[in-house]
Amino acid sequence: MSPQAFPHIVIGAGISGLSAAHYAARTGQDTLVLESAEQPGGCMCTRTFPELDDYWVEAGSHSCFNSYGNLLGIMERLGVLDRATAKAKQSYKLWRGGKRKSILSAMHFFELARSLPRLFGGDKSGASVREFYGRGLGEKNYRDLFGPAFRSVICQPADDFPAEALFRKKPRRKDVLRSFSMPEGLREIPRALAAGPGVELRTGCAVTEVQGEDGGYRLRCADGGEFRCDWLTLAVPPDIATGLLATAVPEAARIVGGIGMAEIDTQVLVFDKADVGVDELAGFISVDGSFLSAVSRDFLADDQLRGFAFHFPGDALDETARIQAACEALATRPEQVRAGTSMRNRLPALRKGHMDVVEALDRALAGGKVGVTGNWFLGVSIEDCVTRSRTEHERRFGALPTDAV
Ligand SMILES: Cc1cc2nc3c(=O)[nH]c(=O)nc-3n(C[C@H](O)[C@H](O)[C@H](O)COP(=O)(O)OP(=O)(O)OC[C@H]3O[C@@H](n4cnc5c(N)ncnc54)[C@H](O)[C@@H]3O)c2cc1C
Repeated sequence: MSPQAFPHIVIGAGISGLSAAHYAARTGQDTLVLESAEQPGGCMCTRTFPELDDYWVEAGSHSCFNSYGNLLGIMERLGVLDRATAKAKQSYKLWRGGKRKSILSAMHFFELARSLPRLFGGDKSGASVREFYGRGLGEKNYRDLFGPAFRSVICQPADDFPAEALFRKKPRRKDVLRSFSMPEGLREIPRALAAGPGVELRTGCAVTEVQGEDGGYRLRCADGGEFRCDWLTLAVPPDIATGLLATAVPEAARIVGGIGMAEIDTQVLVFDKADVGVDELAGFISVDGSFLSAVSRDFLADDQLRGFAFHFPGDALDETARIQAACEALATRPEQVRAGTSMRNRLPALRKGHMDVVEALDRALAGGKVGVTGNWFLGVSIEDCVTRSRTEHERRFGALPTDAV
């Protein structure tokens, strides 16, 4: 049987792949998106509990910001930007020595005041997070507060992460909420993208092989399905991209082959409000606990329930031990858990010098029909993903028309 043919295929239905599909469809390239999981979204993975009246908790990303210009443009066009929902302002707590502490308790103010001029005058390029922020915030502040905070953000050791890829300053849109969620969680955004015009999504379809064929590409899936396309976009983590590029663009595969991945075991837990012994909070930054970080659902309060996602280093603890550790931080007991689930999240483990890898990859892809996007180019934020998808689109298909931007 001859494979089904599409002008453009995207592999991976996280925000990178779906935004790539959206841009392509906007400029006339009907796009098929192939996704190995049973639902789109990747790390934008809201978990719902039907037994608790569809109460939901974010198991992955939890916040979008008014500085996410490309994402906001897409949401506007899909008619979902007006669903952006304000998040209640709450603070994070530190989890240190088995105790909850305030953020300010770990701050060395004198050192901070002395160091800050180096932060604002400093150049991130080529520096690791530890080098740049250790200088700009002070070594003691980095050790006691900011190092653990950065580790919380990227759910992995942060010291050797490239400083450029951690936070990038982006212009803010004053007409949009500074930080927002959606009424049914952030998964609304990938769902809206997948349902957009010119985009077709097939889930449960893990692509295992890509081969160049007659000026285009032939794709094979784990279930035996085969597809053909003229243009191809990879929007999968770097270890998967390495395998898929091996035959189609071997030089690119060689370049990205060394990028590591951080595995994260996420434990989602829901309790009755009365059973949680801590006041409402944004989450925990763990300084020396067994988990890396935790994010609460308190930003969109519910009358009866509270939900949390605790992120642990992959394969470090079994589920019982993870629930025990989370309950300790929340001053409650495992018997009080009303509902829960666990899942594996994955994030790229970028290292100092990564921007040279990206430049080499871009040289290997130049002039070809394969695009590569993801959270391992500009940084890991949702907007970094969408921005990379846009530049990969423009490299191959030309500038977006102004009404598509
Ligand atoms: C716990 C956590 C919290 C975060 N919080 C925030 C936040 O609040 N704000 C923010 O901006 N960012 C946040 N991020 C980062 C951001 O969510 C991610 O970087 C981003 O969503 C990644 O999108 P992606 O499409 O590049 O990759 P992914 O979301 O990983 O998507 C890749 C997709 O490819 C699929 N796939 C893999 N292999 C194959 C294959 N062979 N065939 C077909 N499909 C395949 C996967 O199933 C997956 O769906 C967070 C990340 C995590 C893990």
